[in-house]
Amino acid sequence: MTDCLFCKIVNGTIPSKKIYEDEYVYAFHDIDPKAPVHILIIPKKHISGVPDLRNDDDVVIGRIMRVAHHLAQENGIATSGYRVVVNSGKDAGQAVFHIHYHLLGGRHLAWPPG
Ligand code: 5GP
Ligand code: ZN
Repeated sequence: MTDCLFCKIVNGTIPSKKIYEDEYVYAFHDIDPKAPVHILIIPKKHISGVPDLRNDDDVVIGRIMRVAHHLAQENGIATSGYRVVVNSGKDAGQAVFHIHYHLLGGRHLAWPPG
């Protein structure tokens, strides 16, 4: 999509601190981190959010979860623990409508979330 912030990050029009990339997935540091480790993992393909997922997307979503654990290991939080979060819609505070998985860790994460 031409007018999507995260599509522009994937294609390099808007700079980001990239930490991982493969054929399906791009991962980068969140610009406003909410934890010592706060990484956004996104499909390269534009998908607006959870309600827009289709059967064909199962592979990329599965890949994102495996990349999340890989990046947790690389960032030293796989043993201490981490959270993978997707915000969907208004009540969850979704601000960017290109689906993204937050990988958060490096501190105690309260439950339930706020
Ligand atoms: P949401 O609230 O939609 O689940 O999360 C959007 C996330 O994107 C927020 O954590 C926010 O800090 C991050 N974000 C927004 N704009 C940018 C940007 O231009 N670059 C980066 N790296 N992160 C961004
Ligand atoms: Zn997009």
